[in-house]
Amino acid sequence: MNVRSAHSVLESVFGYESFRGDQAAIVEHVVAGGDAVVLMPTGGGKSLCYQIPALVREGTGIVISPLIALMQDQVDALAANGVRAAFLNSTLSREEAAAVEADLLADRLDLLYMAPERLVQSRTLDLLSRARLSLFAIDEAHCVSQWGHDFRTDYLGLSVLAEAFPNVPRVALTATATPATHRELTERLRLDGARHFVSSFDRPNIRYRIVEKNQPRAQLLDLIRTEHAGESGIVYCLSRRSVDQTAEALRAQGIDALGYHAGLPEEERSAHQARFLREDGVVMVATIAFGMGIDKPDVRFVAHLDLPKSVEGYYQETGRAGRDGLPATAWMAYGLNDVVQLRRMIDSSEGSAARKRQQRTHIDAMLALCETLTCRRVQILRYFGEDSEPCGNCDNCAEPPTGWDATVPVQKLLSAIIRLDRERGQQFGAGQIIDVLRGKDNPRSSQSGHAELTVWGIGADLSENVWRGIVRQLLARNVIAAVGDYGVLVLADAAGPILRGEETIELRREPERSQRARTRSGGKAAVVELAVEDQPLFEALRSWRAEQAREQGVPAYV
Ligand code: ADP
Ligand code: MG
Ligand code: ZN
Repeated sequence: MNVRSAHSVLESVFGYESFRGDQAAIVEHVVAGGDAVVLMPTGGGKSLCYQIPALVREGTGIVISPLIALMQDQVDALAANGVRAAFLNSTLSREEAAAVEADLLADRLDLLYMAPERLVQSRTLDLLSRARLSLFAIDEAHCVSQWGHDFRTDYLGLSVLAEAFPNVPRVALTATATPATHRELTERLRLDGARHFVSSFDRPNIRYRIVEKNQPRAQLLDLIRTEHAGESGIVYCLSRRSVDQTAEALRAQGIDALGYHAGLPEEERSAHQARFLREDGVVMVATIAFGMGIDKPDVRFVAHLDLPKSVEGYYQETGRAGRDGLPATAWMAYGLNDVVQLRRMIDSSEGSAARKRQQRTHIDAMLALCETLTCRRVQILRYFGEDSEPCGNCDNCAEPPTGWDATVPVQKLLSAIIRLDRERGQQFGAGQIIDVLRGKDNPRSSQSGHAELTVWGIGADLSENVWRGIVRQLLARNVIAAVGDYGVLVLADAAGPILRGEETIELRREPERSQRARTRSGGKAAVVELAVEDQPLFEALRSWRAEQAREQGVPAYV
């Protein structure tokens, strides 16, 4: 068999004129019996990379996919093109399953879809050993990565294929492409001899934008009304409750919004999904439970109202926009609470220390993307190991953000954290520390007598918003950390050099000066003095905190 017959399958079965990107090379390699690892962005056209070889080669191609809910659709779409496809999963009755098995053994199937948990059963392996197989396609292969964002235990069992079917070519495909995931999936699926096909992960038609969150629903509504009225979009929220509330709020404003999360009844979910796929202009408000394997070409925007847990997740979710190649928007609103909340979720989650460390690394990369002063696309592609030039198309390229030397305000903040601990013997969350810095007389603060503190009001020259921005950026850069149930602020690794005046720190955006600048000891000299004076204290706090961390098993931030 050769590429020409692959090309004729492309035309006669799928109705396409030409292969895209690496498709031709991958198809040729797999048709010839080689193993392959395929890294290609969402919408890049991974399916054809195994569907065509399965049609060209003798026997049945086994497609392993975690997406049971989509198997019926996939099989129907193939059948509509005259491909003999079927699936084996728990939705089939015993009789239906027996009929599919009979078709497989009689070599009457081109493609057979199943979930990994089905495949690794000894009964299934035995069945497959009696069938004629053209290939194994392992879709969403990043699910085998234990440190990734989509780990599925059953994927680990797929390593048996290497030994059980040494003569059947295997193709692993994913849209998650960090070098670490790539290495891990190659190892775990035992694809040592495979050829690797790594496509560029750039999605040039997607315009990335990350804005500061203040009234997320109003900001979202504004985005939809001014730029995407009547168009299809996906809005991602972290919690089910926020999905429900956001969908409701959009509907109240006349937008055709539907909700999707694991807490909704199955019928409602599939009805919503079907409407989203078939109709124009539906906005799907969803948790990340929605979207994997969804192939809707004309999604014009993907909005995040909460911070994704990793750049991989963000990239996959935003990648669902603009699969038709036309301009699309990836928009995210992000604020101080996102940082605190996500870190806290990790700290209080079950799971090994190593797992938590990994999750923290994922979030840190995500935060770095949010806070970057340079091109978002360059940053995203660099994360996936690709070099690129500034795109001219993202928010940072379109309107380069200004940096400002925030060393003095940051020293004030760090000093406030230390002084509150020393003079009050207490730690506080961001809100209260900002109140103290601004000398804000509210019942909450004055009750605890903070007005007597040396740091009271030293930051009154900056507005509350500017302070929140500072705290957010410092959290993102590990200068401070928010720990425990209440997210109290403590100093973190990068605080020392700034506090000691050895390093300056540049933050995003010039601050608007606050109206009520009633600085008490606001001069630069006074603060640097304060910071220098706090040095020994910083060292003491550091070792105390490390000890505390060891005892309580919390992260040793300071
Ligand atoms: P992935 O699995 O990589 O996200 P799909 O395999 O679902 O992507 O393909 C995405 C879309 O691109 C589908 O609508 C598919 O039909 C289309 N497509 C794939 N390859 C080609 C091609 N060579 N020519 C035209 N359209 C293609
Ligand atoms: Mg796919
Ligand atoms: Zn850019």
